[in-house]
Amino acid sequence: MGGKKVLVIGGGAAGMMAALTAAEAGHAVTLLEKNGKTGKKLLMTGNGRCNVTNACDIETLLDHVVSGRNFLYSAVYSFSNQDMIRFLAESGLETKVEDHLRVFPVTDRAADVLRVLEERMRRAGVRVRTGTAVRELQIDGVCRGVVLGNGDRLEADVTILAAGGKSVPGTGSTGDGYRMAEAAGHTIRPLRPALAPFVIREGWIRELQGRVFGDVRLTVAGDSRRKLYDGRGEVLFTHFGISGPMVLAAGSYCAEALEKLKELSARMDFFPDTPAAELEKHFLQLLNENGKKQIATVFAMLAPKPLVPVLLKKNGIREDLRAGELPRGARQALLGDLKSMSLTVSGLRGFKEAMITQGGVSLDEVDPVTMESLLVKGLRFAGEVLDLDALTGGYNLQIAWSTGHAAGSGIE
Ligand SMILES: Cc1cc2nc3c(=O)[nH]c(=O)nc-3n(C[C@H](O)[C@H](O)[C@H](O)COP(=O)(O)OP(=O)(O)OC[C@H]3O[C@@H](n4cnc5c(N)ncnc54)[C@H](O)[C@@H]3O)c2cc1C
Repeated sequence: MGGKKVLVIGGGAAGMMAALTAAEAGHAVTLLEKNGKTGKKLLMTGNGRCNVTNACDIETLLDHVVSGRNFLYSAVYSFSNQDMIRFLAESGLETKVEDHLRVFPVTDRAADVLRVLEERMRRAGVRVRTGTAVRELQIDGVCRGVVLGNGDRLEADVTILAAGGKSVPGTGSTGDGYRMAEAAGHTIRPLRPALAPFVIREGWIRELQGRVFGDVRLTVAGDSRRKLYDGRGEVLFTHFGISGPMVLAAGSYCAEALEKLKELSARMDFFPDTPAAELEKHFLQLLNENGKKQIATVFAMLAPKPLVPVLLKKNGIREDLRAGELPRGARQALLGDLKSMSLTVSGLRGFKEAMITQGGVSLDEVDPVTMESLLVKGLRFAGEVLDLDALTGGYNLQIAWSTGHAAGSGIE
């Protein structure tokens, strides 16, 4: 039992895990949260159901990390997805595994995950101070604690900075952690919204707003056609562009290139299992067999229904044109849109909508086992404030649990 004084800045997933881990090890822990309550963002996760982790094997889990895979090795092996599932079960909250091995509480309530964390903190004796914003770290060679927004100074042997990122700032994640880490001498890797939807330049796609296509292949390329993303999944059209889990994932891989190049080219294949030649053969057959019918009717025998009026209009084809009269060029254009619809990605939606922040405290300056600063003694980090991010599926919360656990462990 060390009995050290520990301060945790931020009552999100990572901060709460760090606090209860340190307190269960016998330290005197105070958690400082600027909101009126802890876990505001946690309550929003998984649409209020909390996709708490992913049940895949650890190597697969690490493969879903976009930035910081190697850094996470030790933390994730020390406190894994299975450890998190056990942690919840021991605390009376069973979990269930859904599609893509996503893990949710059986109750489907993020509030129950928060309740477990709060209960474990209470039992371990963590002092939780809500409505308490930290203004800065107290540093004179080593970290000695914090200065609060009201000017009060709190002393500590160890301070754990778990103030989150910049995404969805209404939850309290307003980037304070980056500012404090930078003031302590840390490098902040460029901050970008990630797991954010694509803004698409072509105005005609607005006509597809609200439409969902279940199985689309999406490829995104930068300059000289360098492929940045190639995936398959659901696409949702919105008033600004496209979204859905696959698009969010693509956003994470494209954020840096998009910032540099300002525009990327995307292609969508609505028939990923059908070669272009086969699709053309099928279309020709439909046109031949139904030559007297309207093109809108015949095209709907091939294409997903919501695409029909939009693609006909886009290509300047009258809906009442006889199918047999469709010019070759127009046929090729329609097939081109189905197999390789070309779109221009002009941006990502910003931090207000991004699920996470890419970039943060440089991992070169942090011990991957203890999350201790390699620059300032007495300072540790946990969660999204670090230059870590992953795809959707429970991986980002697992990063928070694993790094939070590491930061709260081994305090001597
Ligand atoms: C809508 C949405 C849904 C999501 N769903 C999922 C999901 O289902 N599964 C998944 O794995 N991931 C999900 N994520 C990502 C996940 O929520 C984050 O990865 C995770 O919350 C990061 O935890 P954290 O503790 O590092 O940061 P946060 O949860 O952001 O917590 C940081 C805390 O620090 C506090 N704070 C900030 N500055 C100060 C200060 N100066 N003084 C005191 N306190 C301060 C904040 O108020 C906040 O409470 C989702 C994200 C969003 C936005």
